[in-house]
Amino acid sequence: MAPQGSPAPLEFGGPLGAAALMLLLPATMFHLLLAARSGPARLLGLPAPPPAPGALWSPAAPLLWLSWLGLQAAFYLLPARKVAEGQELKDKSRLRYPINGNPIYDFFLGRELNPRLGSLDCKYFCELRPGLIGWVLINLALLVQEAELRGSPSLAMWLVNGFQLLYVGDALWHEEAILTTMDITHDGFGFMLAFGDLAWVPFTYSLQAQFLLYHPQPLELPVASVICLINAVGYYIFRGANSQKNTFRKNPSDPRVAGLETISTATGRQLLVSGWWGMVRHPNYLGDLIMALAWSLPCGVSHLLPYFYLLYFTALLVHREARDEQQCLRKYGLAWREYCRRVPYRIVPYVY
Ligand code: NDP
Repeated sequence: MAPQGSPAPLEFGGPLGAAALMLLLPATMFHLLLAARSGPARLLGLPAPPPAPGALWSPAAPLLWLSWLGLQAAFYLLPARKVAEGQELKDKSRLRYPINGNPIYDFFLGRELNPRLGSLDCKYFCELRPGLIGWVLINLALLVQEAELRGSPSLAMWLVNGFQLLYVGDALWHEEAILTTMDITHDGFGFMLAFGDLAWVPFTYSLQAQFLLYHPQPLELPVASVICLINAVGYYIFRGANSQKNTFRKNPSDPRVAGLETISTATGRQLLVSGWWGMVRHPNYLGDLIMALAWSLPCGVSHLLPYFYLLYFTALLVHREARDEQQCLRKYGLAWREYCRRVPYRIVPYVY
């Protein structure tokens, strides 16, 4: 365990890793979008030739994008809304800003934890609104385009739209829960979250719908029903686990969680060791991954490309789990070790 008071170790491979990610993420996003439109739709093939510069630029595009951001910011700032309190910032959180910061690393992870313009919290705003709702709108536009092309949207397109709408709707419905996530409490607002929220999420998370528009897939009702069942199981685990932890963190004596077994920690907080959090150490990630599989299955098994999200998300969650593990070890020390002993699997029971 790192001694208390020592600066947090660098994440994402430090400045070198951060620089590589800042080049790789936009390049991957463009590759995926171009590949989804190309005939062979190869995830691992050579990058498709980029369109002529003229086709990439439209004066209306930045205007549309700024209007979309402006509209979302106006909704965000509407006075008639519930105000929730975020996590208390402790003194030690200042240790995340080392004086000898590396400009590349700092630009990637962001130095400012909660940048605000008046009452607009930039990070909280970007996490949920323009990108996440934008993803649903892009999906919907692709569904409408498919209906124009082929007379009606395919069953596969309906499933992908429906599943992802449920996911985004759920995130917006449980908006307050985001205040306790790592993105809000730990990560600064840098390239990673700004690019991730505003570009990566809407454009790569809609990859299945983009693929289906250019590569229609037949889907029989029985197979569609099995895929719906897989999504429902994933959602049940994801929501059950997240709600259980949120309820417990808000009020440990809430009757819905009061009977669960816990471990006490030196900070005064407790850790759940039964219920969803007694099954694996990150049951919410397991549910999320099962849903990711269900989003790709309607695209058939002829191409790897629509499975990109599942592959990327597995890597993201394995890495995220490891980061969270380090943070929990720093926070809870021996109590966390005891939790790991009692709940040995991280994400998938008896596997990982
Ligand atoms: P989690 O919601 O899993 O929160 C981790 C924190 O929960 C820990 O730091 C700890 O914080 C607390 N905790 C851990 N174990 C226990 C326990 N046994 N009992 C009580 N509290 C515990 O973290 P994330 O922010 O990573 O994920 C939130 C959701 O967002 C997940 O469902 C994830 O799948 C999803 N997600 C989706 C992404 C996407 O792109 N679609 C990207 C990233 C996440 P503390 O003790 O301080 O409360």
